[in-house]
Amino acid sequence: MNTEQVLRWLQRFATKIEQNKEYLTELDAAIGDADHGINMERGFKKLLVQLPTYSSKDIGSILKAVSMTLISSIGGASGPLYGTFFLRASAAVADKDELDERDMLDLLKAGLDGVMERGKTQLGDKTMLDVLYPAVTVYEKAVGEGKLMRVAMQQAIDRAEQALQETSMLQAKKGRASYLGERSVGHQDPGAASCFLMLKCLCDSL
Ligand code: ADP
Ligand code: MG
Ligand code: MG
Repeated sequence: MNTEQVLRWLQRFATKIEQNKEYLTELDAAIGDADHGINMERGFKKLLVQLPTYSSKDIGSILKAVSMTLISSIGGASGPLYGTFFLRASAAVADKDELDERDMLDLLKAGLDGVMERGKTQLGDKTMLDVLYPAVTVYEKAVGEGKLMRVAMQQAIDRAEQALQETSMLQAKKGRASYLGERSVGHQDPGAASCFLMLKCLCDSL
């Protein structure tokens, strides 16, 4: 994955967030405070404006700039979480202009670890982690088997799509949805839905 493809990923993701603002907010209305789409769109709208100024940067610097933009403009839990994802991801691929399959694994794993630490969250807590974790696990396995990035990422996306559906069955243990206890069961997690979009856009830009 080269710099141009990274920029395409971010552009697609930002556009998807704008297009799915209402949908993400509706998901959050069911088990949270009806602002996930609004929160995300605030940050990604700003990112869309700034993206053209990133074109001379290396991949690590691009992801770091994304992190700063998101942390400074997204309110709520998702700002620091996505901000941490991109900050840790940026450190894992510092100074690189091209990512091979292993570099991508480093990027994803660093981001994943960042979300887990920052959110103090575990698999099964009904958060964005419940999409990110299984997707990264599948990607890692596929790369271990020698699959090319595009193929490994497609397998990860297939798993992520299924994992997103499965968040409906989980009871929330973190974030606002956890206040609902058992009543959080039967609804998809909004952060898991936005995280799926992030991974889907990554795959589509390869
Ligand atoms: P807020 O809950 O502050 O209104 P958002 O609505 O923007 O923030 O984001 C909610 C999403 O953030 C949840 O659906 C969940 O996926 C994610 N989330 C909340 N708390 C955590 C946490 N501690 N760790 C990981 N993800 C979390
Ligand atoms: Mg919310
Ligand atoms: Mg909120």
